[in-house]
Amino acid sequence: MSAVDADVVDVAIVGGGLVGASLAVALAPLNLRVLQVESAPPPAAAAHWDERCIALNAASQQIVANLGLWDRIAPFVVPITSTHISERGRFGVARFTAEQAGLPALGYNVPIRVLGEQFTDAAMQTTAQLLRPARLRSLQPAGDSVHLGIDTDAGERTLRAQLVIAADGARSTVRDLLGIGSASRDYQQTAIVTAVRTQRSAAGVAYERFLPSGPLAILPKPDDADGHACSLVWTVGAADAAHYLALDDAAFLAAAHDAFGERLGRFTALGRRNAWPLERVLSERLASPRVLFLGNAAQSLHPVAAQGFNLGLRDVATLADVLAEPGDCGASARLADYEARRASDRARVAGFTDGLVRLFSNSIPGLRGLRHLGLLALDLTPPAKHAVMQQNLGYGSAAPTLARRHG
Ligand SMILES: Cc1cc2nc3c(=O)[nH]c(=O)nc-3n(C[C@H](O)[C@H](O)[C@H](O)COP(=O)(O)OP(=O)(O)OC[C@H]3O[C@@H](n4cnc5c(N)ncnc54)[C@H](O)[C@@H]3O)c2cc1C
Repeated sequence: MSAVDADVVDVAIVGGGLVGASLAVALAPLNLRVLQVESAPPPAAAAHWDERCIALNAASQQIVANLGLWDRIAPFVVPITSTHISERGRFGVARFTAEQAGLPALGYNVPIRVLGEQFTDAAMQTTAQLLRPARLRSLQPAGDSVHLGIDTDAGERTLRAQLVIAADGARSTVRDLLGIGSASRDYQQTAIVTAVRTQRSAAGVAYERFLPSGPLAILPKPDDADGHACSLVWTVGAADAAHYLALDDAAFLAAAHDAFGERLGRFTALGRRNAWPLERVLSERLASPRVLFLGNAAQSLHPVAAQGFNLGLRDVATLADVLAEPGDCGASARLADYEARRASDRARVAGFTDGLVRLFSNSIPGLRGLRHLGLLALDLTPPAKHAVMQQNLGYGSAAPTLARRHG
């Protein structure tokens, strides 16, 4: 990024997580003056990224490729060639395969650390200016621009932007400063995220198994010299999380294996454990005068079905389309256009993930039977299967330009 001092910019991106960094790259060809503000120190100075893996779906793979970032992450991804969805204690299973979708893979599992480092590095190669570590402190829409106050190590910076992008996560400072509310749902669940080594290879299969405490997902990671590696996201009741986190490795592996079952044989080694209390946070608005919300700042979802970042990337790709024509970036017609283009995808994915969690976390006896029938119906009814598959591939609604194959 350039070191040019900029008091006036076209677009100020608040947040340099996966969504903010992708956006800086997506805007690079548009010849805009872009500034990005990120409160965390540079990755090299801090262990900024955690142990999560992100399952990128087919649309996201296309967006990443069209952003010119695929070659950077390709050595670290594992293709997902099928998914296997089941409920503990029931035989009903829904399966989706890449062959049914006519694609080489349904998606790709990649460590978030790799995505974070590579996307941040790519953003730094653009002409966008980066303030890091720097924290947004104040924000005041004023006619044809927004005034921003930013704390940096060198003191407070002020600047004006035509458009401010809130990519500052579920606890968005931008949202708070503008007094915009959010609707939250605490799932009373905690996701324990780690890596396990398994006796048998997952062989490209992503497993999602519904337990009374919440879903347990196992996805393949790149194998290492010591065996078959998988990422594990195990959702437990919030009140039980401390117990599972305190178990020694052998006891945790045995408990996780018991919860998952025999499909991959014994679990033989364990990585570092991180815990994520699970909450859905939906911003009450996607747009406010000269401000747009993207990624987790717009919608932070339960990780079931691995939708959050995939949805955020479609936010990024859509904004790139909306800003493609020259002119005032923050004009109200553009903001309304963005909102209209994102509304149905956002509502559908937020509703789908929430519905899945609530349906499968419910132990009412009649519902268990219905779930069983639901999984069987999903597996056996081609139109239902096709609709769910299209959504999980990221093509449930009109695809932005960056999500389309070219040539
Ligand atoms: C357990 C788990 C598993 C998941 N698995 C998947 C998956 O497989 N596939 C998938 O698509 N999604 C997945 N997700 C969701 C995914 O991780 C998120 O959707 C994505 O990381 C959100 O990125 P973001 O950039 O919008 O937000 P964040 O990652 O929260 O980034 C926001 C950034 O803004 C910065 N910031 C905040 N406030 C300020 C401020 N005032 N000034 C400056 N900077 C600020 C923060 O430092 C941060 O870097 C998972 C989530 C969880 C919890």
